[in-house]
Amino acid sequence: METENIITNLNSVEQRIADACKRSGRKREEVTLIAVSKTKPIEMIKDAYDYGIRIFGENRVQELIEKKELLPSNIEWHLIGHLQRNKAKMIVGNTTLIHSVESMQLAAELSKLSVTKGIITEILIEINIAGEKSKYGIAPDEALSFIKNVSGLNGIKIRGLMTVAPIVSDPEENRKYFSKMRQLTVDIKAENIDNVSMDFISMGMTGDFETAIEEGATHVRIGTGIFGER
Ligand SMILES: *Cc1c(COP(=O)(O)O)cnc(C)c1O
Repeated sequence: METENIITNLNSVEQRIADACKRSGRKREEVTLIAVSKTKPIEMIKDAYDYGIRIFGENRVQELIEKKELLPSNIEWHLIGHLQRNKAKMIVGNTTLIHSVESMQLAAELSKLSVTKGIITEILIEINIAGEKSKYGIAPDEALSFIKNVSGLNGIKIRGLMTVAPIVSDPEENRKYFSKMRQLTVDIKAENIDNVSMDFISMGMTGDFETAIEEGATHVRIGTGIFGER
């Protein structure tokens, strides 16, 4: 995709985020845009960087690290895709936020590696909000007990929840799921669990990010809407 198209797309995405914030009485600063650059070349990421984007999302560890090494060090790299336990070693220390923690074994591995490195790895817990068979994530009604268990681990800090909502033609169809995600964070926050802050809700993609913002998303993950089809 041409540089001009990426700039046009980013202007449009920024405008739509601002409008969604306005409609829902939120401040623009309450919503973080993550530019999802998976499968896209370095040149396109540089275009977005020159525009001012500093947060990029990747769904594969290897690809994230390769790109990180080639791009400016003031970029925040978020891992948004499923993380296998055997890749945990590579990612710890290389990411600002892991959005996709959904097993105790993975959390324990991230904990162990982070303690060894003397760092805190910030994570989100992935929720399968619509109960889809094809999706990763903790069932909503198991989220609290799962989070209580993970919260006891050293070296990691739970910042909130993440979901990949169903693929729908009308984003309104996902409103109920986004609303449920927000309610879940409120309920978990009320438990005042040590080491759990619940201030992040990562939800909303190209097809439904405005609805997600209206329902309380703090992080939207937008790929196609910025970089074009994959
Ligand atoms: C690819 C991906 C996105 C971005 O999807 P688009 O529809 O291209 O905006 C967001 N979140 C996750 C977890 C992804 O894998």
